[in-house]
Amino acid sequence: MVLPHNVTELAHALVNIPSVSGDEHTIAGIVEDELRSYSHLDVVRDGDAVVARTHGDNATRIVLAGHLDTVPIAANVPGTLSGSELWGRGSVDMKAGDAVFLALARELSAPRMEVTYVFYDHEEVAAPLNGLGRIARNHPEWLRGDLAVLGEPTSGAIEGGCNGTLRMRIHTHGVAAHSARPWMGVNAIHGLGEILRRLERYPAQTHTVDGLDFRESLLAVAIEGGKSLNSVPDAATVTVNFRFAPDRSEQAAADYVRSLFSDLPVDFEITDLAPGARPGMDHSELHRLAAILRSHGAPEPTAKLGWTDVARFSSLGIPAVNCGPGDPLLAHADNEACPVGQIERTFQALQEWLA
Ligand SMILES: [Zn+2]
Repeated sequence: MVLPHNVTELAHALVNIPSVSGDEHTIAGIVEDELRSYSHLDVVRDGDAVVARTHGDNATRIVLAGHLDTVPIAANVPGTLSGSELWGRGSVDMKAGDAVFLALARELSAPRMEVTYVFYDHEEVAAPLNGLGRIARNHPEWLRGDLAVLGEPTSGAIEGGCNGTLRMRIHTHGVAAHSARPWMGVNAIHGLGEILRRLERYPAQTHTVDGLDFRESLLAVAIEGGKSLNSVPDAATVTVNFRFAPDRSEQAAADYVRSLFSDLPVDFEITDLAPGARPGMDHSELHRLAAILRSHGAPEPTAKLGWTDVARFSSLGIPAVNCGPGDPLLAHADNEACPVGQIERTFQALQEWLA
């Protein structure tokens, strides 16, 4: 398959290749063939993930990464390219970003820094399937670099780092009794009351990390308790989710949540814990990229509050940011569409940065 040269037409062509998670084989093959046709790149493949690297001798290496899969199609493939918008599944999340990186792979035969291009599978599904995670486990050396940029949609701005996430079950204990004689028991559901009041009153903190503001959140997300409807319940549980700034470690985040309730007769059980990622905005090359994006009219850098694959790079010791065309609020929407101007602007800015 011959892919178009123009970056927007390239994004359109990628949208037109269906690649719902688990069905990336065709698009991975097309991307692999394209990358193998450039003599300035070494190309390797693991499953439906393709990695291409320049082999010059510059000391600094930048990693550009994008996932090839999309969420299920909603009558929006093939896509449509009107004058100002590319419409269709994946136009935002994230084939416009993939097209920017693929166009850079073609244009940058002798970049100012070494560049690694990563196109991977299974981002939109359960974390254990994630293609980037698989490469990090099987071939961590393929991802080696000084700085990573993920092409997830950010309207073309830098979104740095990400918050970590903790899910913790807080158990209260009581003594069962007949509900006609509740004074004979201790009500575990009532024991949740003080926990819920503290969560309701909890003032969210904002931590400034490497110059970006990360707003935290702590809230109840699930509640369980009670068996028979004529008994005093002897056990109850509230599950809380803490989205914590990347200046807290996983351990510190868990200790912090425990400390908020440690004076109560409760037990804690961690069910899910993933670290945040510092935005790495102190890196001189990121300052340079931010300045170039600004000169192209992109919005100012902000903090990423959700958890993204930048944390996978961060756990390998590589600072990472998100930067890609498209409004993130339109990702996964049935009316997913990306402004052509953002695709071209992001391509030009990254080319200026790396050339
Ligand atoms: Zn995405």
